[in-house]
Formats: sequence, structure tokens, C-alpha cells
Amino acid sequence: MSIDIQDVHKSFGSLEVVKGVTMTVEKGEVVSVIGGSGSGKSTLLMCINGLEPINSGRILVDGTDVHARGTDLNRLRQKIGIVFQQWNAFPHLTVLENVMLAPRKVLGKSKAEAEAIAVEKLSHVGLAEKLKVYPSKLSGGQQQRMAIARALAMSPDYMLFDEVTSALDPQLVGEVLDTMRLLSSEGMTMIVVTHEIAFAREVSNRVAFFHKGRIHEIGPPSQVIGNPQQPETIDFLKSVL
Ligand code: ADP
Ligand code: MG
Repeated sequence: MSIDIQDVHKSFGSLEVVKGVTMTVEKGEVVSVIGGSGSGKSTLLMCINGLEPINSGRILVDGTDVHARGTDLNRLRQKIGIVFQQWNAFPHLTVLENVMLAPRKVLGKSKAEAEAIAVEKLSHVGLAEKLKVYPSKLSGGQQQRMAIARALAMSPDYMLFDEVTSALDPQLVGEVLDTMRLLSSEGMTMIVVTHEIAFAREVSNRVAFFHKGRIHEIGPPSQVIGNPQQPETIDFLKSVL
């Protein structure tokens, strides 16, 4: 069981933004992806769950070629939860109803089943008290935890996080990182695009440093963050630490 990225190239028109990325994330691993703005981190995540096509290479999720003709992308995406910097919840639905939606519509669960799942996942991210509240009443950190609960409600095997704390006020970052820490301690397989270097260092099995569409360095955090070898990695870490 793994996400296996093999020599992936991806262009938008004539602009190549992912330039031959190879990386395997094994089940149970947490891999953080760090790197400057525009280096192709978000694009790679979109390619992993088939939201963007690729130009060459392959991405296998548990052996299924994401971009092959005939791949059932809806089924594949059920395995892969994704959380973005911001998720616009349905404002006219409560927190509970928002999280029930995908189990109801996509998995075909009964109302009672979907509610049980949503209550469980919202409790897990610390929002048991907010079930009946409307999303606009939540803080930014609570909204991001709701987004995580929503992804978890599909019982994914993998979770992709794309700078989920970047839009938050500094005092709200910790609670979201705590939730991600909890998931990692439970063995969730995660790819975490983040600028939170201390967090990446603490939770990751490996860190990948992206620069201009390529992985310049990948390895344990003690190596890539603690003792970087490439000048680009050293410069980047100086800029964010
Ligand atoms: P990162 O997440 O590392 O900041 P992105 O993957 O978002 O980088 O973007 C990489 C490059 O691809 C940037 O130059 C960005 O402008 C470009 N890009 C991203 N999405 C699109 C798109 N849908 N159409 C055209 N260019 C895009
Ligand atoms: Mg991005």
C-alpha cells in the first residue's frame, strides 16, 4: 500500500511546473513537503488525486494508475482525503450537516449512519460542542478542523494537507497542528505541504524539499532540516526559520 510517484512531469500550457518528481509514500508514513511559493507543491497534490492530469510519468495509489484511462477517479478519491488552505463550507448547513454530506451523497450512507460518522469525526477533531453551529460562527482554526473531519468522514487511507494553517491567525495554528499530530500518531498516511518547519521536523518520517518543480533533497527531518546539503535547501530554510 503506497502512493508511488514515478518521474511525473506536469505543465500548464508551455509552463512546466513539475519536472520529473519521483517519490514513494508508504502506508503509515508522514512525508512533509516544503519549498518556496510556486515550486509546484500544490500542483503535485492535485495530480495525486487526479484533480489535474499529468504530461508524463505515473502515479500509482495502491497499485492503481491514477491517470490511466478507465480508472474510477471517484472511487480513488474516496481513499484520499484532501484539505486545502481554505474550504468553503455550505453556509446554510450546520457543521454536522456539512460533514454528513459526503457520506450521504458519495457513500450512500443512511441519514443515521452518516450522522454517527460525522459526530465521531467531529468529536475526534475536538468539535463535539459545535455540531449544531453554522460554519460562519467557527474560528478559522475550528473551520480547518471541520474540513479535516469532513475528509475523515470518508474513511480515507491517505490524507493530503496543503498549507492548512497558512491562512490562520498565529494563535489558531496550534490547534490545527495538534489535530494533524493526533492523526499521525494514529498511523494515518499523510503528505503534508507546510511552512511549519518545526512541525514538519517533529511529525514527519521524511521531508521533501521542492525547488522549481524538482525534489532537491528528501530524507529524514534530521537530515533535510537539521543538516541540509543543497544550497537551495539551506537558503530556503534560512528564509523561513
Ligand atoms: P506551490 O504550491 O509550490 O506554491 P503551485 O503548484 O501552486 O506552487 O504552482 C506552481 C506553478 O504553477 C506556479 O507558477 C503557478 O502560477 C502555476 N500554476 C498553478 N496552477 C495553475 C493553473 N491552474 N494554470 C496555470 N498555471 C498554474
Ligand atoms: Mg501551494
